[in-house]
Amino acid sequence: MKAVESEHPEYAIPEPPDELFKMLEYLPEEFEDDTEEKYIDALMLAAQTSYENGLYQFAYVQYHMLFMTAVYYAILKVTVLHEEELKKALYYLLKDRYSDFWKETNTKNGKLYFGSFAIINESDVFMLLRVVGLDNNLLGELKKLVEERNRYAHANGQLQLTSDELFMEALNSYNNKVQRVVELLKNDLIAFYKKTISDPDFYDPDIRAYLDPDEQMIQEFIKEYSLSRVELNWLRKIRLSDFDGCTGETEIKTLHSALIHYYRELTQDEYQPFDDPYVQHKYKNNAAEFVERELEISAYECGKEGGEFPVYECPECGEEQLAYNADTHRYHCFACDHNYTDEEISFCERCGSIMLRNDAVDICPVCLENMSKE
Ligand SMILES: [Zn+2]
Ligand SMILES: [Zn+2]
Repeated sequence: MKAVESEHPEYAIPEPPDELFKMLEYLPEEFEDDTEEKYIDALMLAAQTSYENGLYQFAYVQYHMLFMTAVYYAILKVTVLHEEELKKALYYLLKDRYSDFWKETNTKNGKLYFGSFAIINESDVFMLLRVVGLDNNLLGELKKLVEERNRYAHANGQLQLTSDELFMEALNSYNNKVQRVVELLKNDLIAFYKKTISDPDFYDPDIRAYLDPDEQMIQEFIKEYSLSRVELNWLRKIRLSDFDGCTGETEIKTLHSALIHYYRELTQDEYQPFDDPYVQHKYKNNAAEFVERELEISAYECGKEGGEFPVYECPECGEEQLAYNADTHRYHCFACDHNYTDEEISFCERCGSIMLRNDAVDICPVCLENMSKE
């Protein structure tokens, strides 16, 4: 997800600070249910629009909702990491309302979702984080956030949060608290990831849900457990050598590489797939599949609609393995690993075949020879 650009830059609308988008790093990257993604996008847009119009108090209330959403997602992960303890904590907290919590109206297809926790009083819901070691100090600070929000959110006819400075203070406070909340799950989540990825049900290509390692990692882990960018950053730092000697070592390492690759693509604005060793390895001698899957250009569509399918004969090795990425203006050969830029490659004016550009004429040696005979 990224910030929505303002449509009217000529009115000198204040540029929202980066801190206003920080909460997105604690919210999921992939969604099972796209209404959840739309909900978050709408909240983010509301906070941004309020900010741009100087309505800090409203931006603040909307940011609080984004914060609570991130906290609910964290608690949802606790239900996976420590199922029994969390159920006990829920029972203790809800007493006779416990069975309501599991009712159809408060779950999705029989499963808890982040919104399930919204029926619990906001100050009380933090208590569930006791299961992962929340201390009194942080609990007190979290409760204070809710108290403050209550003061600002009441329709008392007063706008109290009127300065950019106060708003920034509140933003930083939320960003600091959410960091400390998710940090509580860090070690458990890393252990859970290592355990999951080492389970044959997850790694064995004959058993697992998706044959493609990227698809398996995205669908069965990143989406399944609503992982955020911050959490993915912890996991991608796990070394491949940690899986040395495991049963299923090769498959496990391929899957972990898929997660590292996912994170890299997510965070690099200037991502160059041709420089990514994972991509080079995955599509070795398979340029056509690279183009189909990574560049999302279909050979079938090209054939039908007359577009060009960007796989060519490599001038270096002669193999039909040279892929062209129009986004980066670069060519890469998936056979010999040779790279070319746009400037180095040209197409013959007479026969259309690929050739190395030379300053004089764009006519290939074969055609030149034929021309001299004519
Ligand atoms: Zn080549
Ligand atoms: Zn030619």
